Amino acid sequence: QREKPWVTVGTIGHVDHGKTTLTSAITKVLEAEGLAQYQTYDRIDSTIEEKRRGITINAASVNYQSKLRNYAHVDCPGHADYIKNMISGTVQMDGTILVVAATDSVMPQTKEHVILAKQIGVEDLVVYINKTDTVDDDEITQLVELEVRELLDIHGFDSDKIPFVAGSALYALNDKDPVKGRDSIINLVEMLDKHVRLPTRIVDKPFFFNVEKAITVKGRGTVAVGSLERGIIEKGNEAEILGKSGKIRTVISQIQMFYKEVPKAMSGDSIGALLRGVSKDKVRRGSIIAKPGSIKLVKKADVKLYVLSKEEGGRHTPFMKGYKPVVFSRMSAVSAIVTELKGGKEMVMPGEDVELTFEFVIPLAIEEGKRFTVRDSRKTIATGVATKIYS
Ligand code: GDP
Repeated sequence: QREKPWVTVGTIGHVDHGKTTLTSAITKVLEAEGLAQYQTYDRIDSTIEEKRRGITINAASVNYQSKLRNYAHVDCPGHADYIKNMISGTVQMDGTILVVAATDSVMPQTKEHVILAKQIGVEDLVVYINKTDTVDDDEITQLVELEVRELLDIHGFDSDKIPFVAGSALYALNDKDPVKGRDSIINLVEMLDKHVRLPTRIVDKPFFFNVEKAITVKGRGTVAVGSLERGIIEKGNEAEILGKSGKIRTVISQIQMFYKEVPKAMSGDSIGALLRGVSKDKVRRGSIIAKPGSIKLVKKADVKLYVLSKEEGGRHTPFMKGYKPVVFSRMSAVSAIVTELKGGKEMVMPGEDVELTFEFVIPLAIEEGKRFTVRDSRKTIATGVATKIYS
């Protein structure tokens, strides 16, 4: 029997709406089915520290299964950790459970997490209306559902396609009222199975090849060495080289993997590609080779940044409009100028999350939803995600 596929999900939502309680309740209910190991609230709450890419986020990772899948489930202890995790993509979520307490309905962090989920491209959402044990009137739950649907629609989700489950994580955890408790959890997990798609197969997209270096092979020409981020390249494919020299058309006249010639390569492969009629100075580390017309070079982008605090190794002082750090995306490093701070902000403090506009000194291949890091004086000072691009 094949192993069940892994899917990463996480809870999002306003503080105290019951995210950690729900996470614990899922493991409790599924333990009875032999599909999880019960994780107590306290165990999840006393979180593990994860260190990756120089950014520390606090997150608990809990595993459970449905009949069809393995789930890795992320629960963050605080609002700042959610924002940081979502922007940096330290833990990439395939889908999320939006937790909204029936007692409070939509709150500021509910809204912020929904907006961010959309911006980072987490499209598959399931809503859990929690704490329904405290409302004896079904109409209140329905009203909350309406408010959440409205919020989702405003921010670019199609709420008609989003499943809602109402229940009580606390009842599920304390074995009370099986309908509001246990059944709501079983139902929620079923909705995850149905609604959260498996990580997309990136072979379906036009090819995109990151160049790590270019070499000259005597008698043959220029070979670009690097990794295929998505798609499939076949020998003879037309291609476009994008980089500091602008756009150049070429043909992939040969593909090599592990020193052997192959007819094609797939997303994830490390390859050498022989480029017809291209001199070596036209390709370099950071260049991108892609299907012609599939990639834009961008001069300007709106971005969301999480600026590292002093304690996280970031800046010690604020920055303002006109600040010029270096943006690292994939293999490229490009100077960028902060041309606008959104929301009437005057300056940005270390430890804050902000929205701003960058203008790139050299056009950069960046897409909406793409993550990047920002560096200054050889240290990472922020992590970001592009939310809108202008070409
Ligand atoms: P988080 O900040 O979103 O992770 O929220 P917690 O899981 O820490 O829960 C916040 C508070 O709400 C705690 O006191 C929980 O016991 C309480 N809580 C969570 N779920 C429920 C529920 O279904 N019903 C009620 N009445 N209280 C709940």
